[in-house]
Amino acid sequence: KGRDGLGAYIADPAAFPPSQVIYYNDDFVAIRDLFPKSAVHCLLLPRHLPPDVEMFDAARADPAFLAAAQAEAAKLKTLIAKELERKFGGQSRSSALRQRVLNGEEVEIEGWKEGDELPLGRDWEREVKVGLHSNPSMSHCHIHVLSRDMSSECMKHKKHYNSFNTEFFVNLADFPLDAAAARARKHSDWSSRDLVCWRCGKNFTNKFQQLKEHLAQEFEAWKRE
Ligand code: 5GP
Ligand code: ZN
Repeated sequence: KGRDGLGAYIADPAAFPPSQVIYYNDDFVAIRDLFPKSAVHCLLLPRHLPPDVEMFDAARADPAFLAAAQAEAAKLKTLIAKELERKFGGQSRSSALRQRVLNGEEVEIEGWKEGDELPLGRDWEREVKVGLHSNPSMSHCHIHVLSRDMSSECMKHKKHYNSFNTEFFVNLADFPLDAAAARARKHSDWSSRDLVCWRCGKNFTNKFQQLKEHLAQEFEAWKRE
């Protein structure tokens, strides 16, 4: 347990129920984060990296591994987008609009007339982030795949928020980083940066409780997009 808590999933994924291990194959295990910081928060664990090997180093040393991790993360991202659609699609205006057109109803959309292509509905993949903390607390390499709402009971302090919303969070698509860039990410003062709403950019400085209240409102508006 402790720093090594993710090792058990890699060693024996079959020992866990589907509510904890989403799927696994020879190279990766996809799990639910035990302390989710967003509405949906999963982790992708590569199975063949020794503990304490960091993604910064692995990605630079082994381009084939990085490509495999990016491909697997893209699969998990798609699954999560579908889960978001199942959970929240019923509240989405753009999904409802598409459905009404499919149903043959008369709808008024600016710039759209019958016979045009269908309105697209909601692109839930756009709402999913994929990346790593530049200084992870857990020893086994894990890629965060999470919705970007930051709406969760487990999101309890400034560090939690900033770790996903500053340069401390490195998008998997941005790997590999050269050694100097990786060091800069690790040693930046990300944790003391102002709290800034991911959705509207409003600055809450150090006022975490106010940010939390604001995020609850943003969550509702976000679902309705
Ligand atoms: P880090 O800051 O190391 O990138 O994030 C580690 C993540 O692992 C955190 O989001 C934390 O909630 C999650 N976590 C910590 N222990 C466990 C555990 O035993 N099981 C699962 N599924 N997630 C864990
Ligand atoms: Zn906002």
